[in-house]
Amino acid sequence: MNEKFKSILYKSDLTKDEVIYLFSLSDKDEIAQLYKRSDEVRKEFCGDDVHLRGIIEFSNYCEQDCLYCGLRISNDSLPRYRMTKEEILTTVIHIVKAKIKTIVLQSGEDSSYTKEFIVDVIKSIKEKYDVAITLSLGERSFEDYDAWKKAGADRYLLKHETANKKLYSAIHNKQSLDERIKHLEYLKSIGFQAGSGNIIGLPGQTIEDIADDILLCKKLINDMASFSPFIPSNDTPFHNVLKADLEMTLKTMAVARIVLKDAHIPSTTALGSLIENGREKGLEIGANVVMPNYTPNPYRQNYKIYEGKICITDDPLSCAGCLQFKIEALGRTISEDKGDSLKTK
Ligand code: SAH
Repeated sequence: MNEKFKSILYKSDLTKDEVIYLFSLSDKDEIAQLYKRSDEVRKEFCGDDVHLRGIIEFSNYCEQDCLYCGLRISNDSLPRYRMTKEEILTTVIHIVKAKIKTIVLQSGEDSSYTKEFIVDVIKSIKEKYDVAITLSLGERSFEDYDAWKKAGADRYLLKHETANKKLYSAIHNKQSLDERIKHLEYLKSIGFQAGSGNIIGLPGQTIEDIADDILLCKKLINDMASFSPFIPSNDTPFHNVLKADLEMTLKTMAVARIVLKDAHIPSTTALGSLIENGREKGLEIGANVVMPNYTPNPYRQNYKIYEGKICITDDPLSCAGCLQFKIEALGRTISEDKGDSLKTK
């Protein structure tokens, strides 16, 4: 191994230039070394446990108009749905029965779900089950976040999408990167375990931007960070944009593991949709989380953020078993605890 490469791989803090250097590797052996190192860092800081997070995508209505996302308000060809409290709670039972200890409630930005409604759902879950709750509802008021934390929610996922301010403004309708960062900082300040992350392969995005994405997650001391490949969605302005490059996606996840060390990093459904066995690949190069999709039929196929999302016609009840099998085949174990932030330990 060349000396510069070796010293970067084993450094505890990487500069932006060093991150870019790793992204620029083209030699197959060196790329293999990078993946070997990220897997080692994962093992050292997170162990062999893979955390399963059961996700319920309870509404695909969205008030935002993000150019990349199939749920955007301007997409009037998408059949929309909203799940009732009873439907959400029935789905929670399925997740609990599968011994999964984290419930992720995700939706488009849908203000028809009031602060009070979400409080009620959180309390109903927490009263009955010993599980962690992750919310992923987009930007809401700080008052809403306060109420949900008080009601017992544990974590909040709000991806920063891109750390490039100009690009952020260009691909979002009225949102700004500064505002998003304020939300992330606020969520952390009131005790949420917070997760952020990017989309890889946005038009106009550079590898410098992706390096900034990883370093921003570090600066925000994210408990969780998700790096997912862009996949085009029909009926969006980005329908003709090429899907993300696989190698760049894997390099990003690997370097993120080396830089972020003990952050929870998912092997995303988008990676699984980009290539066959993508989620297994992600777990081998640094990821330690997978999110089985419990959104019930017939809604499941309409949470169509991008085209070709895997498992949308499956019976949700078979998802966890299928993933469990794949994880064990990699020689990894399924976590039996809630998989809280490793940063609070
Ligand atoms: N409304 C919530 C949840 C959004 S969907 C929120 O705003 O946080 C979850 C994630 O899907 C987004 O954060 C985004 O990173 C990702 N996403 C959206 N469109 C995508 C696409 N075309 N390809 C890959 N990921 C996409």
